[in-house]
Amino acid sequence: MKSYLSRLAREIAPYTAGEQPADRRYVKLNTNENPYPPSPRALAAYREYDVSSLRLYPSLSMHGLRAAIAGAEGVDEENVFCGNGSDEILALCFPAFFDRGGAGAAFADVTYSFYPVFSDFFGIAKQIVPLEEDFTLDLGKLGARRAQGAIVANPNAPTGIGIPLAEMEPFIAQSDRIVILDEAYMPFFGESAVPLVKKYKNLLVVKTFSKGYSLAGMRCGYAIADPSLIAGLERCRDCFNSYPVDSVCQAVCAAAVADGEYYAQQNALVVAERGRLFSALVRLGFSVLPSKANFLFARHGSLSGREVYEKLRARGVLVRHFAKPRIEAFCRITVGSREENDLLLAALADIVR
Ligand code: PMP
Repeated sequence: MKSYLSRLAREIAPYTAGEQPADRRYVKLNTNENPYPPSPRALAAYREYDVSSLRLYPSLSMHGLRAAIAGAEGVDEENVFCGNGSDEILALCFPAFFDRGGAGAAFADVTYSFYPVFSDFFGIAKQIVPLEEDFTLDLGKLGARRAQGAIVANPNAPTGIGIPLAEMEPFIAQSDRIVILDEAYMPFFGESAVPLVKKYKNLLVVKTFSKGYSLAGMRCGYAIADPSLIAGLERCRDCFNSYPVDSVCQAVCAAAVADGEYYAQQNALVVAERGRLFSALVRLGFSVLPSKANFLFARHGSLSGREVYEKLRARGVLVRHFAKPRIEAFCRITVGSREENDLLLAALADIVR
């Protein structure tokens, strides 16, 4: 039968998001959501939103939201770009900073699986750098590729391994190419490169409201960089969708980012639970990578990754399994609330027994 789809639409392998099954209630530890509610100030901003203004398009400048982010991050408003989730910003980075037929984008073989999808979608060459045996990234090898630029998730996903700022800064300083740092999980590490943005014009840091701000359902992310890089993102955005961040989202996220104290407390609880879960998994026979994120990447000594995933699912606990080279033995487990983690550990104890 004749297909009316473009070759791209027929042939591209899209990103697969974590499942959201509706057949029963699950302990959902498969998409790295925050177990705690958004800040009361964010929730109040949502409830108090003047819905009669929904007749109008959202603010184009996003002044309120960008000013709030700039305040929290210690930069100027001109350094801030906002998008519909950090996924959208990462997508825009490909046309904004890489040329078709150019030297391409360098990133790790085991990292956020949206990067190769964006590369393919925008026709940008991929320069894939294998992680070391212990799943750490050798930044020297990344730089040696002489790609048009590099993308590093820090902490990395799905491994959770983090690169300290003292190691990241020389990499940025020595590079004459763009360095895009995806700091989706930085709220659980605390080594953000945002303070370096004023110093290095080749650095763009991407962050999200989905993880550290407990607002995955709002779909908002932001980038911090020199205005010359922000202009590239704006030009590409305006070739696609001028209003990616809706009015309610702008108000809620502005309130959230102004409540740093609340989030510091909640995220410290996630980090404490991460430590407890790590030790408990080791006691159950798992090897666990040293995580700086809100998830753990764990492999059992005698059960396959697929088995752990399936047996947990049958017991009402969802985790993420990637049937991919190098990592099929692992499951990625989101750090939940104390109660959720106890349910996970009870299910695992049952499985291991
Ligand atoms: N970067 C990484 C490394 C992620 O794991 C995710 C979440 N899937 C994102 C970016 C995107 O998050 P969001 O679009 O919700 O901001």
